[in-house]
Amino acid sequence: MACGLQIKDEDSGYNKNLFCIPKHYEEDIERVFIPHGLILDRTERLARDIMQDMGSHHIVALCVLKGGYKFFADLLDHIKALNQNGDKSVPIAVDFVRIKSYCNDSPTEKISIVGELSALNGKNVLVVEDIIETGRTMKALLSKLKDNEPKMIKVVSLLIKMTNRSSGYRPDYIGFEIPDKFVVGYALDYNEYFRDLNHICILKEKAKEKYKI
Ligand code: 5GP
Repeated sequence: MACGLQIKDEDSGYNKNLFCIPKHYEEDIERVFIPHGLILDRTERLARDIMQDMGSHHIVALCVLKGGYKFFADLLDHIKALNQNGDKSVPIAVDFVRIKSYCNDSPTEKISIVGELSALNGKNVLVVEDIIETGRTMKALLSKLKDNEPKMIKVVSLLIKMTNRSSGYRPDYIGFEIPDKFVVGYALDYNEYFRDLNHICILKEKAKEKYKI
């Protein structure tokens, strides 16, 4: 079974004053939880693992928007580097799907998959997701994808939350296993804010109030 780099409950992250944070978010961040450099290092290894397993097939990489866009871009850069420098290489096509399942820091009742999926029949699909909490979103997406009859589906998620709300779903590749905390940054948002923050961070409670809708 896949495992990610585990961040334990008692690991509270890093003092934000030791990192560069955009001025407009300085007052909102409590701690830096996963620094950008560590995200990139872990992503490099995920790219290698994925290419070892899927590297003999033509791949369609499917980005789950919006939260997955940074991870998707960096993962694909690492996969492209492997393609460029390795003994073997495979063509990678890209596709995008948009899903909305959160408002403020809580899940919404309905999971909306926005837009049409392109034809995936007979393709080897790599779904690239930002974070899995209960697994509800991914299960809904996978069941929709399976209607398209792809040859193979693998899922990579940058983060998986260790929570008792989990359905038990685990993706094929995991970046980090994190405690049950709401995180932002590296394209993960709070009501569309904080996507433009490089590190994955924990918010102050007063920031949740400030950006609440
Ligand atoms: P699930 O359906 O697995 O419970 O939740 C997955 C979705 O919820 C993710 O794609 C993401 O949009 C959102 N989500 C879950 N936890 C967090 C979190 O800690 N921070 C942010 N920004 N989004 C989260």
